[in-house]
Amino acid sequence: GEALAVSARVAPLGSRLVLLLVEDLTEARRIEAVRRDFVANVSHELKTPVGALSLLSEAVMDAADDPEAVTRFAGRMQIESTRLTNLVQELIDLSRVQNDDPLEDAEPVRVDELVAEAIDRCRHQAGTKQITMAAGGTADLHVWGNRGQLAAALGNLVENAVNYSPARTRVGIAARRVAAPGGDLIEIAVTDQGIGISEKDRERVFERFYRVDPARSRATGGTGLGLSIVKHVVASHGGEVTVWSAEGQGSTFTLRLPEAGSVRDRARAERVRG
Ligand code: ADP
Repeated sequence: GEALAVSARVAPLGSRLVLLLVEDLTEARRIEAVRRDFVANVSHELKTPVGALSLLSEAVMDAADDPEAVTRFAGRMQIESTRLTNLVQELIDLSRVQNDDPLEDAEPVRVDELVAEAIDRCRHQAGTKQITMAAGGTADLHVWGNRGQLAAALGNLVENAVNYSPARTRVGIAARRVAAPGGDLIEIAVTDQGIGISEKDRERVFERFYRVDPARSRATGGTGLGLSIVKHVVASHGGEVTVWSAEGQGSTFTLRLPEAGSVRDRARAERVRG
């Protein structure tokens, strides 16, 4: 194909260069394929709620003389439009975390505030399922980064913990400082007693639109984008996210982020990011 043609043309220049060029083209082609897949996935994901809305509005028109049915269809229309709104919002968030440099307006961010915000965001959902949320160890810890992005990342993890857990279970958020070669890190772990994630799926849940159980994800308003947003946020902050899980017992998602501190801060986050 194209890569071979190029390698033949530059062959006289030396084999190192040829190899590099071929690799570049392969990478470029991979990126192009990912982009095409992404557009196809977005189109598909948008079509589902739009299609449902269209059918439901027809159903409402047909049921004009049955007020109860109209109310029922209208309720479902509301669910579908919420889904559409969530999806569009998450696409905007994803594009933002992929394109903006979070360290442009990085600052020390209080971990207790991030955690309180994340818990607040899920309070309603947790309440209806009688899920207890508890946080510990967050006092006096600060991470270095973009407040809005960090809040989105932690919020997504706590939201998932609540969504993928049965009623009357517990979601715990624990924070601590851990020593690391390049400077201290802040670790924030979100633990649930939910359905868990199999080993095979654990590697894939951070991919865009990947869902273990699409029907279940959809039922909770999931878009399949939450964890890919988390992954991007931590990567651009010079941090990491890992997952531990036992099927049927629960999962722990752990964020590790640079601590905000005297010598570290920006220089360090930049260094770790490479
Ligand atoms: P979604 O919007 O579907 O929740 P995410 O990207 O946040 O998308 O997560 C991807 C998939 O990973 C989910 O659909 C779900 O199957 C799985 N998952 C995420 N968090 C958890 C969790 N705490 N427990 C079990 N499964 C989870």
